[in-house]
Amino acid sequence: MHLLTQLYKINSKSGKEDKIKSFLLDSLQQLPISVETDAIGNLFITKGVADLYPCVAAHLDEIHAPCQREVVVEGDIIYAVNELWNRVGCGADDKNGLWIVLNLLQTEPVLKVALFVQEERDGDLAGCRGARACDLSFFDNVKYIIECDRKGASDVVCIGKGGIELCNSDFISQPILQKYGYEMVEGGKTDVVELKMRGLNIPVCNVSCGYYNAHKNSEYTRFSELKNCLDFVKSFLRSSF
Ligand SMILES: [Zn+2]
Repeated sequence: MHLLTQLYKINSKSGKEDKIKSFLLDSLQQLPISVETDAIGNLFITKGVADLYPCVAAHLDEIHAPCQREVVVEGDIIYAVNELWNRVGCGADDKNGLWIVLNLLQTEPVLKVALFVQEERDGDLAGCRGARACDLSFFDNVKYIIECDRKGASDVVCIGKGGIELCNSDFISQPILQKYGYEMVEGGKTDVVELKMRGLNIPVCNVSCGYYNAHKNSEYTRFSELKNCLDFVKSFLRSSF
């Protein structure tokens, strides 16, 4: 839980992702990975060598304005308060996705990771600006992308906002879905939906990673559900080799 607490303490409002990027790169320093970036600031990480890579995605930014943020753990629930002890958003959307990615990069020998900036809407600016600006060639040798950026504990979004098909409903097998309590559902917008709208021709999906009340001061995480998401994604990655 210490790693998650560290992530929540770093504010990364859209367009101000430098601190969270430094933290991630420091944490990954000992690993045999290569890291690329692009003009807008997305991070693309490759570990191991393969003809076709599995890929996991998350977004670096959050909706909340910077403030002094203390992280509170009450049993399985994690949230944040300010210096007056009033609830503030903890940035679980999408620090939970970053936590999953950091864990997978430690354990999985072969993996690509895409971390996008500026996923959140910002005033008049539409969301998914990092995913809209990126060069799709990073995904030329990728067989699928799993993004961890969905509220709750049980959704695999296979149809995105506007009815766009992300993957087939049997992309993840029933035994794996059932073991971890997930089901295929219709959902909203995130980076992988933007990539599909741009014509990326591989299966993608967006999975629940244990956060609730995203974009609100009452945002919180159920840690057991975040850990279950990690186990679920890991199990799928390993079954797909
Ligand atoms: Zn998000």
